[in-house]
Amino acid sequence: MSETARHEGVSGERRGDAHVAERPAGSLALDLTGDLPCASCGYNLRGLSVRGNCPECGVLVRATILARIDPRATEIQPIPRPRLVAAGVMCWALGGLTAACLTWLIQGSHVAELMRGAAWNVAWCRWASVVALLVSGLGALTLARPHAGIPVRNVVLALIAAAAYVPLAGLHWLVVGVLDTIAPPPYFARGGAVEELAIDRLYLRLAMSGVMAVMVLCLRPNLRLLVARSLVLRTGRVDRQTMYAVLASVAVVALGDAMGLLAGVLRGPIGDVTAVSSLFLVAVGSMLLTIGLAGLLIDSWRLLPVLLRRPLALGDVFGGDEPEPTGGGR
Ligand SMILES: [Zn+2]
Repeated sequence: MSETARHEGVSGERRGDAHVAERPAGSLALDLTGDLPCASCGYNLRGLSVRGNCPECGVLVRATILARIDPRATEIQPIPRPRLVAAGVMCWALGGLTAACLTWLIQGSHVAELMRGAAWNVAWCRWASVVALLVSGLGALTLARPHAGIPVRNVVLALIAAAAYVPLAGLHWLVVGVLDTIAPPPYFARGGAVEELAIDRLYLRLAMSGVMAVMVLCLRPNLRLLVARSLVLRTGRVDRQTMYAVLASVAVVALGDAMGLLAGVLRGPIGDVTAVSSLFLVAVGSMLLTIGLAGLLIDSWRLLPVLLRRPLALGDVFGGDEPEPTGGGR
């Protein structure tokens, strides 16, 4: 009897120990045992109670937890080469915007020539914009497979998009590097001699729009995967459909160029109206495209923190209660 009692006592004690070690869910780690910067001022809240406030700015610790902890952090695939992917995404976005800005500079030089007869030396812009496009394409290459577990279809699409930068850079060079040096764009100088060149330019530009549309559609699936890493972008706290905005502006430019071709066929006043509408659409579309590319750069910048580091999990802040992600998840 006494033996049994002792036995029970021992097992009871053991059970008690296990209980303490596991900690019941109700009292689970009320103090932050990991680093957690305050959502408002960035003060490290480590060691504070979840019921407290930030000693610096008074924001509730719970508010910071809601803002910073990603409930899906442990499902998110780790990126084996975070710096390469981060640099790739930035090169991709920056290259595209740079090429657009250099093209504006080239157009600006034509305006300056027309208005004041002053010729800017923009020869460097021509090849620099081609280099910027190729840098953007190299960046896009890193988007093909930034981490494991990406569907083959996505990888193939992203590779097509990256490869499409070569024909895009070629077409761009034919427009700004070849046609532009023979005769300025038709918007700035009208005449029978350049009419044929103007039509060539329109076809080249339409081809460029087509290539860009393919790129946007092919890169979008993987970009969405990367954006899904960010709690803020995923949950729509920053609502952005930048890729669609870029696609829409490409469509506006393409419509303008198509109307330019139509204006070449139509004669008389209808032809003139079509020509003016074409110029208007190309100008507005190009402006929107540049703004869209700037938006992509902003989005890429926002993505950097979640590319370089895994998002914060509850376990990071409450003492490793959650398992580390080891290639699991979906
Ligand atoms: Zn604070």
